[in-house]
Amino acid sequence: MHRRDFFKGLLAMPAAAAQQYLARARGLPPLTIREVKAIPTSAGGSYQWVFLKIITSEPGLYGLGSASNVNQAFSVTAAIEKHLGPFWMGKNPDRIEDLWQSTHVRSYWRNSTIQNNVLSALDMALWDIKGKRAGMPVYELLGGKARDAVALYAHADGRDMEEVEQNVRKFMEEGYRHVRAQMGGYGGGGMIPAGRGSRPTGGYAGPAFDEEQYVDAIPKLFERLRVKLGNDVKLLHDVHEHLTPTMAVELAKRMEPYRMFFVEDILPPEQIAYFRQIRQVTTTPMAMGELFTHPHEWNPLIAERLIDFIRCRVSQIGGITTAKKIAALCEAFGVRTAWQEGGDNDPVNQLAAYHVDLSIPCFGIQEENHFPPLVYEMLPGTAQLKGGYLYGNDAPGLGIDINEAMAAKHPLQPLPGGDNWTTVRTVDGSLVKP
Ligand code: MG
Repeated sequence: MHRRDFFKGLLAMPAAAAQQYLARARGLPPLTIREVKAIPTSAGGSYQWVFLKIITSEPGLYGLGSASNVNQAFSVTAAIEKHLGPFWMGKNPDRIEDLWQSTHVRSYWRNSTIQNNVLSALDMALWDIKGKRAGMPVYELLGGKARDAVALYAHADGRDMEEVEQNVRKFMEEGYRHVRAQMGGYGGGGMIPAGRGSRPTGGYAGPAFDEEQYVDAIPKLFERLRVKLGNDVKLLHDVHEHLTPTMAVELAKRMEPYRMFFVEDILPPEQIAYFRQIRQVTTTPMAMGELFTHPHEWNPLIAERLIDFIRCRVSQIGGITTAKKIAALCEAFGVRTAWQEGGDNDPVNQLAAYHVDLSIPCFGIQEENHFPPLVYEMLPGTAQLKGGYLYGNDAPGLGIDINEAMAAKHPLQPLPGGDNWTTVRTVDGSLVKP
């Protein structure tokens, strides 16, 4: 080739690439967002879901995201319909980062829980659209598979140590390598039954949390599990923020002999500075972040290597885009991910976490969710659980759709038992962090 032809070829390359892009976009004009729909629905129980559908100018091309917030579902719906939906209309859905940033500052005050739900849903829907355009599952756009499937941890519970042990065994037999063990729900082992204990006259009479009792009971539970089950199973436990800081440090020390995979939320978000003390006195691995919504919460814990697992919920932090950025930070500082799912999670958020989990080097574990059968019909493409692993499908985008007619038949309902599950008290009627 002549030197002149070589340089002519180089100059032609960007134009050729642009042609290829246009061909992939099928010669259509740039995409715009044509319609924004909030789809509130429920699959029963504590499932209070709000999905976001972003419909584009290309016929049949839309994306789905999760804006679910079990405690404020109606507020999220209004935020989409009245505030952010109109802001997105007519914008280009290809510009994920730009739309993320402009939505983030749209309300001027940043990182409210409601706004983060809506922002997360937008982000997931835009990645879904981009994947569908590219003809690839989202994990391919994020760098491809860094593992074959996503390992899950199961939730075992029981009224006493014997029952907890049996339930951990059941999950081990199903193939789970990781099992979280609780003894009577959050705070279980430390609960004084209703009407018992020394109570103020005429005061609170319900079940009451006692942290000394809890800090004595939980290490005994895990001692038994290790004696009976050996060291092969990886054990987890969720403190759910119930402890005062010094008792949290004490429990972390007492759990060290039982070789925990992690102890979760041993401190409330307000007291995260105490992770420095915990780090100084024990090697018990710490997982934290279920309630985090702001980078100022997770950044210092990761950058100072004060935790072992970051545990935010993908739909509370800004979606796939934020999860990937957190994962990059974690990778640099030797922290792993364990995205929070919880009993109220939905299949779209689960898949958003799944695509990130598959593609990052610092994946630790994923919390399991098993949905009632109607969900697989309402949301075709919902990921499958098999033998302790989560499997999505390889359809382009997130790989999930919504049957809107069916969703409409299952409207949001008030939470069964009311919405006061976060109110936990001691015998004298004082509040405990939930
Ligand atoms: Mg938790």
